Amino acid sequence: MPRGSAVLVCGGGIVGLAVGGRLADEGYDVLILEKEGDFGLHASGRNSGVLHAGIYYAPDSLKARFAIEGNRRMREFVKERGIPINESGKVIVARDEDEDRRLEELYERARKNGAEVHLIDGKELKEIEPNARTFERAIFSPNTAVVNPKDVIKALVETLKSKRNVRLMTGVRCLKRYAKGKVLTTEGVFEYGVLVNAAGLHADTLARSYGVGKDYLILPFKGTYKELRPSHLVRGNVYPVPHPKTPFLGVHFTRSPEGRVFVGPTAFPVLSREAYSGLGVGRETHKILWRLGNVFLRNRGFREAVFSEIWKYSGSRFYARCSEMVEGIGKGDIIPSDRVGIRAQLVDVRRWSLVMDFVVLGGERSVHILNAVSPAFTSAFPFADYVVNGFITGLE
Ligand SMILES: Cc1cc2nc3c(=O)[nH]c(=O)nc-3n(C[C@H](O)[C@H](O)[C@H](O)COP(=O)(O)OP(=O)(O)OC[C@H]3O[C@@H](n4cnc5c(N)ncnc54)[C@H](O)[C@@H]3O)c2cc1C
Repeated sequence: MPRGSAVLVCGGGIVGLAVGGRLADEGYDVLILEKEGDFGLHASGRNSGVLHAGIYYAPDSLKARFAIEGNRRMREFVKERGIPINESGKVIVARDEDEDRRLEELYERARKNGAEVHLIDGKELKEIEPNARTFERAIFSPNTAVVNPKDVIKALVETLKSKRNVRLMTGVRCLKRYAKGKVLTTEGVFEYGVLVNAAGLHADTLARSYGVGKDYLILPFKGTYKELRPSHLVRGNVYPVPHPKTPFLGVHFTRSPEGRVFVGPTAFPVLSREAYSGLGVGRETHKILWRLGNVFLRNRGFREAVFSEIWKYSGSRFYARCSEMVEGIGKGDIIPSDRVGIRAQLVDVRRWSLVMDFVVLGGERSVHILNAVSPAFTSAFPFADYVVNGFITGLE
């Protein structure tokens, strides 16, 4: 697509904004449409803000390709902008022999990905994170850092506003393909040279109107958080060994740059895409229940994960699980928090499996970003390069 062409981006989360920035730098005319009254009001402003360091991902995956570079570039960005960052690193702890074995696998995988990780013993763990508990060994990742994701969104929006070739509009929802090079929105029909679908929780619906991604559907998973007071019990970030059958990392302790320690996020399926309170019974509930039912019945790994993970989220078990990872937590020290986010988790309906990697598909003069799950916040800059170089600059 020649420089100077018009690119329309649907979605003003971190991915849409990063893609918009990259396109503008390449000389395209960019219009970003966001359905809400402001940018980053969904996953991008509601996540843990952890800049991941490339540990968990399958070595040949896009996640592995982008996370380490994304972490480095996001740190540079926040430092240039004077955004507060907590660079205390993180530890991953095991609770038994089985998790200790998986910890070693995780360590090997991280090294294959080129991540800086150290396998440490209990004594070294105490020096880094005095109250963390582990079976025998732990992983230390010095490059994991934490930011407030809202600060990053605000800075990205300011950067985009300063560019002559970028226009940002809020309160406009992309509805569906209208005709070749045209999209129907709540504010009428817009024309474009290329459309980028970065609509997060709604990306599958928009993609389908382009005849793209017929094998995929989004299933929303809610993550709620609690807060640890007294916060001095955790210096940095303490993570469990994740369950191997889910893409989620397990409830963890995260110290924000302001010094608050959050515990979460959980991972509950919910019945509508933006069900921030309650289960969210709504217009799409029957469809979401059908998706969930199929994944549950046809995917044994998912069933196992549900039974081993979800029970951990209930009151006393949640407390017990937290105490297995960090000592000194009293019964009243984990208090409610209003922080909550929803993951736009893609399901492959051919196997009814949760898709682990990022998915980007090209369509007629359009690009559809379908599984921008964690660590897409960390990876936003190299992810945007991939979308632009791989799907836009080469288009006729
Ligand atoms: C609880 C939780 C914790 C997480 N923790 C981390 C973490 O610590 N580190 C990390 O790297 N990642 C983390 N993630 C993942 C990260 O938040 C996401 O990968 C990332 O925010 C995805 O960005 P996005 O722009 O694709 O989606 P979104 O932020 O959802 O943005 C999509 C935007 O599109 C808009 N939109 C939707 N439909 C339309 C439409 N039709 N027309 C116009 N606009 C539309 C929405 O309003 C929204 O603003 C976490 C996610 C969750 C939910």
